[in-house]
Amino acid sequence: MGNASRLIWVLALSITLSACGDSDQGIGAPTQLQAVGIKSQVHVSWSPPSDGAVVAAYRVYRDDVEIGEVTTTSFVDELPGDEECVTRQYTALAVDADGNASPRSEPAASSLPLSNVIIMIGDGMGPEHERAAGCYLFGPDHGSDGSELVFETLPVQGQMTTYSANSDITDSAASATAIATGHKVANNVVSVANPGDERDLYTILECFADQGRATGLVTTTQISHATPACFAAHQPVRLLQAAIVVDYLEEARPNVLFGGALHMTPELAADAGYEAVTTRAELDALPDDTEFASGQFAPDHMPYEYDATQTEDDPYDVIPHLHEMVTAALGRLEENPEGFFLLVEGGRIDHGGHENSIERNVLETVAFDEAVEAVLAWAQGRDDTLIVITADHETGGLDVVECNAAGDWPTVTWSTLDHTGVPVNTHAWGKNADRFGGTIDNTDFFTAISSGP
Ligand SMILES: [Zn+2]
Repeated sequence: MGNASRLIWVLALSITLSACGDSDQGIGAPTQLQAVGIKSQVHVSWSPPSDGAVVAAYRVYRDDVEIGEVTTTSFVDELPGDEECVTRQYTALAVDADGNASPRSEPAASSLPLSNVIIMIGDGMGPEHERAAGCYLFGPDHGSDGSELVFETLPVQGQMTTYSANSDITDSAASATAIATGHKVANNVVSVANPGDERDLYTILECFADQGRATGLVTTTQISHATPACFAAHQPVRLLQAAIVVDYLEEARPNVLFGGALHMTPELAADAGYEAVTTRAELDALPDDTEFASGQFAPDHMPYEYDATQTEDDPYDVIPHLHEMVTAALGRLEENPEGFFLLVEGGRIDHGGHENSIERNVLETVAFDEAVEAVLAWAQGRDDTLIVITADHETGGLDVVECNAAGDWPTVTWSTLDHTGVPVNTHAWGKNADRFGGTIDNTDFFTAISSGP
């Protein structure tokens, strides 16, 4: 090809481009483009050109590359399921019956479909654990109207499978990793790809943080324990709790870290720029606009609720119950106008199960349900918030033989001191709650939360 013909070809290309880019052809661009969803599915929608031109088709672009043409004013961009939660920019243009293209619309970046997401995990809380707590509160009436745990009254109820990558019976780390990242891993692994290349697996908490939202972890265990760790840390094994604390304070930096201490001391938190508190009084005095708040309310795990009822010197006279930590967390997180992600763990339901202690187990579940009540009270009237309550696995092989009177312990049997593989329940409320009905797997959380609209 000679120089002259190449010049003509380049000229023709630039004319075509400018015809697409500038509308001397009279058709206006689509308006009010929106893009919702950030992992496997982004819903892109727009309004027709405001000049009222008859539109034959719309072309949709992702990051300046055309990805499809439709005759409707919406488009679903299906992305590979292992995509991370990264922001993409979408534009669209309109084409009229003569083939004239409008300029591209104003761009819209993909975003999360929900403002606020609250995941609440009762660690080791199988269906029979829920039933045992219901029996304790309501006696044989449990399950009838007005005699239910708060989470049993939510509009969506379902079941969830919990197996890990290397076992039918998961541990807390593998299940929390599945919930937090959408990936199955081997037991004891904290949000890295094992089996696999050991890369960090992106978590839903990190996704919210990257979208400018506030984030928080609240638990009754040590704050660096497996369940919260999988949302904001990446380590080959859960026992590396000092390293998990470093991940929290130097990498993920959740705005709220409330629970037991052990590996995360108030000094470490303060050195990392957190306001560190250790009592209910200090927590109550913390200003709402504290950007980074850390509460270490016990030197190890928080005390068992049951044990606190058996002593003259109730530690909960001085430190907050789970529902109080949750209310305080919500007070901080709601300060972010973009929204937030909060993980709440009733972490010692599991410990009561491992000990086959129905008293400790039941009162931890009751305290967890009070935290659910606090979250629902906060969320009343909102249409931009999702609340999901579930468990990571069952612990103890619990079976409720008989509901006794309200206030009495139910008659139960246990089959193991360890976890079991029985499916756990899901309870959900709010926007997109229906995605948690029926039977789901613990890996379904990430996409259910991040996909639009
Ligand atoms: Zn667990």
